[in-house]
Amino acid sequence: MNISRLKKRLSGDHDFKGHTILGSMCTEPHKMAVKTYKRFLSTNVGDPGLFPKLIQLETEYIASLGRLLSNDSAVGSVVSGGSEANILALWSARNRSEKGKREVIISETCHFSFDKAADLLGLQLIKIPVGNDYKIRVDLVEKAITDKSLAIVGIAGTTGLGVCDPIEELSKIAVKNNLYLHVDAAFGGFVFPFIDNSPKFDFSLDGVMSITVDPHKMGRAVIQSGCIIYRNREIAESINIDVTYLSGGRAKNRSVLGTRSGASIAASWMVYNYLGYKGYKKNIDRSMKLTYWFIDEIKKIDGLGVKVQPESNIVGLCASKGLDIKEILFKIRERGWAVSEWPDYIRITFMPHVTKRSLKKFLVDLRSIVQS
Ligand code: PLP
Repeated sequence: MNISRLKKRLSGDHDFKGHTILGSMCTEPHKMAVKTYKRFLSTNVGDPGLFPKLIQLETEYIASLGRLLSNDSAVGSVVSGGSEANILALWSARNRSEKGKREVIISETCHFSFDKAADLLGLQLIKIPVGNDYKIRVDLVEKAITDKSLAIVGIAGTTGLGVCDPIEELSKIAVKNNLYLHVDAAFGGFVFPFIDNSPKFDFSLDGVMSITVDPHKMGRAVIQSGCIIYRNREIAESINIDVTYLSGGRAKNRSVLGTRSGASIAASWMVYNYLGYKGYKKNIDRSMKLTYWFIDEIKKIDGLGVKVQPESNIVGLCASKGLDIKEILFKIRERGWAVSEWPDYIRITFMPHVTKRSLKKFLVDLRSIVQS
């Protein structure tokens, strides 16, 4: 067996460089992230005593993201992705709460990782409907609070449409009712801080106790890289577990995983420092320009439209005038396009690997399907 035979065997799978993936939140990692990842491939920060300098790098990276999110005392970890980060957040919320509090108030649009978290942690999700803007209804959040409430979750960049829940209002409710507020900014964490006049969702709001941010989405890092960022050390340490047998000496573990990639930390740190604020801003400016251009093109196709005016680089493509969005989805996929299926729309994500050239080809196919 050799690499070419393996490549041949796997050929035909989609590839970000092939420009057919228009519905993913992942993307081709930045070249600096790839280079750095390869160099530190064998590092395992699950045994932190062996890699104290990498742990320092992780602390520094989390502190930088904390400052980006208006917090000078942020503590956290680089974990496997948004799902793990969300599980960790609810784990901390549960461990810090009084006995008997089990309910987590969250939008019906939440990512499925919260269903996993609730099942694993013995919690109950109270799912709240969204309004016409596809954001959680704050009036219903207040009504849902009971003596069993433990936490509220707000989403900054929903999985389906990329919109931001009214986190400022959720924060006021959380403070008033002494509830833990977690913000799932797995997608929006590397988007909203770089868009002018974007909604507030960070630690500048008193109620926010933790935030999920994924470097492996708009952060241009490698899969698997997610971050859980806590307001302070006390919250982070509420899930600490003592590990006694490690080669590098005793340590505290606070991730779902035991063995944990140091390469993800190094690569995330590298791309963050290489691009800097300006680089990320340039990145998202490009994606937003493409998003708005695409919407203008969609408006020219009779029977197609968008679900909601986007707040980030995600568009929900929907159909009217007797067109069937499921049929369009089936036919567009048949032509080789990898888009994301939602109950009454198709999600298109304008990630760094998506080009105007590929979108133009996609639009040609879309027009011919709609007009046939
Ligand atoms: N949170 C949100 C809002 C997401 O959109 C996603 C993934 O799409 C996740 C969490 C889960 O992230 P991951 O797939 O990295 O576990």
